[in-house]
Amino acid sequence: MNAPLTPAHVLSAQAPVTRATYDEVMFPNYAPASFVPVRGQNAKLWDQTGREYIDFAGGVAVLSLGHSHPAVLAALQTQAQKVMHVSNWMTNEPALRLGRKLTQSTFAERIFLCNSGTEANEGALKTARKYASTLYGDQKHGIVSTFNSFHGRTFLAVSVGGTEKYTKGFGPVPGGISHITYNDVDALAKAVNAETACVILEPLQGEGGMTPATDAFLLAARELTAKHNALLILDEIQSGVGRCGSLFAYMRKGIVPDIVTSAKGLGSGFPIGAFLSTKKVADVMQPGTHGTTYGGNPLACAVAEAVLNVVDNAELLQGVLDKEQRMRARLAEINSRLHCFKDVRGEGMWLGAELAEKYAKLGSKIVTEGHNAGVIMLTAGGGNVLRFAPSLIIPDADIDEGLARLEKAIATVIATNA
Ligand code: PLP
Repeated sequence: MNAPLTPAHVLSAQAPVTRATYDEVMFPNYAPASFVPVRGQNAKLWDQTGREYIDFAGGVAVLSLGHSHPAVLAALQTQAQKVMHVSNWMTNEPALRLGRKLTQSTFAERIFLCNSGTEANEGALKTARKYASTLYGDQKHGIVSTFNSFHGRTFLAVSVGGTEKYTKGFGPVPGGISHITYNDVDALAKAVNAETACVILEPLQGEGGMTPATDAFLLAARELTAKHNALLILDEIQSGVGRCGSLFAYMRKGIVPDIVTSAKGLGSGFPIGAFLSTKKVADVMQPGTHGTTYGGNPLACAVAEAVLNVVDNAELLQGVLDKEQRMRARLAEINSRLHCFKDVRGEGMWLGAELAEKYAKLGSKIVTEGHNAGVIMLTAGGGNVLRFAPSLIIPDADIDEGLARLEKAIATVIATNA
């Protein structure tokens, strides 16, 4: 008797997956690299073929402690064996410890926990509107944001982001949102008025091109919002958790926001988001106003607590600033040989190298050639800025080796596109 034939779909489900599988089964909204990473260790990644890469992208500024940090692994394993999820009908110890730690280390008195950056901003913006409506009436609902900012992909977040390509085709955007040019103090002064509920800013526009806010702009945002009883929200989803050399970037800027949002580096690879505020602001969000099933789950919170225990440390944060100097020096050396950069900017382990005018269109080619050379990085802006956001504890040797590989990649791209 013949053995029953195995149906084709069962056979294909058992076949090894490769990059080609992506095009067969995934939504086409991303264009991932040609290799599939399978293992990581701090600032290094290895793909399915065993090839090694220096990871300057850090999972898009997520891996504050790099890949597979022992403290993250220990927290995951220990907490997973206790309890992973209880829902918001009950609180849990890791969430309470994380809340206490973050409120003690920042200006804030209260925290809301969620699962991603976009959710943190969504919740922060809703809180700001609720606060304005509760204290001053519904007409005070204006959200002032900046062109080229990035606040995530929920519908409110893309609408606030001010980058048309992210809202185009998705129907009418919510009302009450206005945009001004980043760092334009006069435009900000004109935009903020009695009907403004909040101003939302990144302390340094990451996706938009690694553009730092000027001190004058941040100060004006602080003063204008205070004057008009509006809240200042700082989106620290990329800039926070040590990335700029302090726990949050605002701590080195001489201003204190009303709400700060966090995600990415907070979980060092495990999804978590949060926003923090004073008690007065938080108090408008009474039971039933907002929520999330998974936000504040014990597993994510245990990981974030472990991450903060390592990151919120003067020596580690000084190390971030020292590594910045090392990276800047190496990038300057590359530039002295290849004349490929117009500007290098950013803070801590979050740097952008803007390509010189004549190479401005080669950003994505350099990223792809970087993969061939064994280095991973991002672009920002219109693709003319190479963006680096590696592990905050990347070994100096990996900085040097990664940038040597980058130099090789840039030289190849210049030679083949001359
Ligand atoms: N805000 C900023 C400044 C970001 O850089 C990002 C992501 O890149 C987000 C918000 C959205 O975060 P998430 O992708 O976790 O939703």
